[in-house]
Amino acid sequence: MALTGVLRPGHTQLRVLDIEESVKFYTNIFGMVETGRDKAGRVYFKCHDERDHNSLILRKADRAGMDFYGFKVRDGKTLDRLESDLKAYGVNTERLPAGEMLETGERVRFEAPTGHIFELYAEKTEVGDGRGYINPDVLIDDRKGISPIRLDHWQIHGDNIDGSRDLFINVLGFYLVEHIVAEDGKTDLAVWLSCSNKAHDIAFVRDERNDALHHAGFYVETWEQLLRAADLMAKNRVSIDIGPIRHGITRGTTIYAFDPSGNRLETFCGGYDFYPDMKPYTWTADEMGAGIFYHTRALNERFLTVVT
Ligand code: FE
Repeated sequence: MALTGVLRPGHTQLRVLDIEESVKFYTNIFGMVETGRDKAGRVYFKCHDERDHNSLILRKADRAGMDFYGFKVRDGKTLDRLESDLKAYGVNTERLPAGEMLETGERVRFEAPTGHIFELYAEKTEVGDGRGYINPDVLIDDRKGISPIRLDHWQIHGDNIDGSRDLFINVLGFYLVEHIVAEDGKTDLAVWLSCSNKAHDIAFVRDERNDALHHAGFYVETWEQLLRAADLMAKNRVSIDIGPIRHGITRGTTIYAFDPSGNRLETFCGGYDFYPDMKPYTWTADEMGAGIFYHTRALNERFLTVVT
C-alpha cells in the first residue's frame, strides 16, 4: 500500500507531575533523547531511530494524562484536504501556527467523539537518526536504557468509540484490523485501527471515562530487547503492570509499566503486517482475556481500571 494520507503517530504531549524526575526517567531508563525545551517549559524527546525532531513532549501539570495525540500526514496538500474533509464531516477544526511546538509546522486540531484532542501536521524538522544518509551504519552510538525505536501507537478510552471509529475510518482513511464484540454480536467494545502496514496505529476502548489514556506504545525491535527492557525496569524499580507477555490481538509482545507520574507506557514488539484487503479479526467478549493477554487468558484488575 502506498502511504499517502495519514502516515503514523508522530507526536504526543504527556502531562507529568514533576518535570525533572520525568526527564531523568525518559532519558536514562526509558532511553529517549532530549531534543529541546521551549519557553512554556515543555521538554521534547525523540526515539533514537526517529528522524523528526520530536515525538514525545512532556508538560508539567497537576494531573497525569495526555494533552493531545498527533499524526503526521504526507504533505501540506494532504493536511489541507483532511482539514476540509473533517469540516465536511461536521467536525470543528482549529489551526495552530507553525512554531507553537518546537520545530513543528502548522497543526490541524480537532476533538474526537471520545473526547480526545487529535492533531494532524505535515512538517517537522528532520534532525536525522545520527547515522547520516550515505552508507549508514546499523548501530547507533550511545543508546541508553530501554531505547525504543519509535512512538508506535496509543490505546485510549471513551464512551463513543463508534463515533471515533467511524471518523477515523471514513475521514482519515484508517482500516479496522481487529475488534472485540459484545455478547449482542454487534456492539464494539474495542477497535484496533491502522493507517499503515502496522497491525495498529491506535486502539479505542469503550469506557464511560472520556478523554482517557490507557497507554502510549513504543516499539523495540526484538523479543530479546523486550526482555532486556523488563530487566531494566526491574533493576530501576519501575512499576510494571504486566509482562513480558504476548497479545492475542496484533500478536505483538508487550510489557506495561508506569512512568513516575502514573502514565502507563507499553514497550511493544512484533505484531503482524496489515494490508487493507485483510478482513478484520473478531474477538468475542468471552475470549477478551486471551485477546489481550494470550498466555494467561485473563485481564488483571489494574489493567482494566487504571487510566490517566
Ligand atoms: Fe498497545
